[in-house]
Amino acid sequence: MGKSSKDKRDAYYRLAKEQGWRARSAFKLLQLDEEFNLFEGVTRVVDLCAAPGSWSQVLSRILIKGERIGRAAWDSRQAKDRLIIDGPPKDDLQQPMEENAREELKPRAGVKIVAIDLQPMSPLEGITTLKADITHPSTVPLLLKALDPDTFDPSMTSASHPVDLVISDGAPDVTGLHDLDIYVQSQLLWAALNLALCVLKPGGKFVAKIFRGKDVDLLYAQLRLVFEKVRVAKPRSSRASSIEAFVVCEGFSPPKGFKASLDNPLGAGTKLPQNPDLKEEKTKPYRRLREDGVTELELGSESANEGEDVRWIAPFLACGDLSAYDADASYHLPKDRQSLDPVQPPTAPPYKRALEMRKAAGGAYGKTKKT
Ligand code: SAM
Repeated sequence: MGKSSKDKRDAYYRLAKEQGWRARSAFKLLQLDEEFNLFEGVTRVVDLCAAPGSWSQVLSRILIKGERIGRAAWDSRQAKDRLIIDGPPKDDLQQPMEENAREELKPRAGVKIVAIDLQPMSPLEGITTLKADITHPSTVPLLLKALDPDTFDPSMTSASHPVDLVISDGAPDVTGLHDLDIYVQSQLLWAALNLALCVLKPGGKFVAKIFRGKDVDLLYAQLRLVFEKVRVAKPRSSRASSIEAFVVCEGFSPPKGFKASLDNPLGAGTKLPQNPDLKEEKTKPYRRLREDGVTELELGSESANEGEDVRWIAPFLACGDLSAYDADASYHLPKDRQSLDPVQPPTAPPYKRALEMRKAAGGAYGKTKKT
């Protein structure tokens, strides 16, 4: 399967290359922003699991350069060289929408963006990149230092100038074993949340990729422990056939006196400071304070009748409307179209060594076969 057929199968893959994004994931963040206005008033951001860097590019263009990237970037009615699904376009899609008026760039003051990934990431202007494992406790001081190099001291466990937004697009190398993939992905989300707890300011936001497995409601409920509002969103650029979605958590409100640490992460049995307010919490799920001072997550009411559904389900939103390209569709392409190279080739792909070995052996079949 050549890159040209991928262009045809996936409109977002092609648009990403045309618009200079390092990955098609850029559209997921842009479509989430369109729905949730994620970047309003935001200047300090942490981008977890950031390589190759398309989410960081979005941050850079919107926060540092002050661009407004509207739906024209992915709207099938506005594309110059429209891709067509299933034959000729329908009438209502034929009229290009009015061009967004050109606005002046409005770079924001005091922007700080730190991006972390296991893989090395090609530099992006204005963005501090760290090569680190988000599940490892040693990443916390690295991140705190990158955020506030002047005020950092190694005994710190939280940011001296906390951040407005933490985003995480973390995904493991998928094995195809559904339950295993979902488990590993949930561990990444958990690590991202615990890092977010160390750096977010009260009222801050957390946006992270999840895989919707059968116990995902437990995850939503855990997030509701520390955020006022938790919603789940599926951007149009995320394939409907994939179990991927994004949790959008707003209004960070840690329990009083809570100190985050990856050595003692928030979770079942975490000892939280005594907080008499907890007993007052009424909405489900809520935090319950045990007599020994341990805070537990309560998913339902103790008085619930047997068989009564006590699960808390986060509201689900599909982002984008039918004018956005469909990530699952194949598109017809103009005859004279050209397939572009990726904007940023992988810096350290896992198959690099195999390629080197193949080259050293004289090609795909080795020297001995070349007669
Ligand atoms: N948001 C990125 C973008 O827009 O370019 C794409 C992220 S990609 C889907 C998932 C990333 O998660 C990979 O680059 C992978 O290296 C990273 N990752 C997986 N496990 C990680 C870990 N434990 N720590 C840091 N990064 C991790």
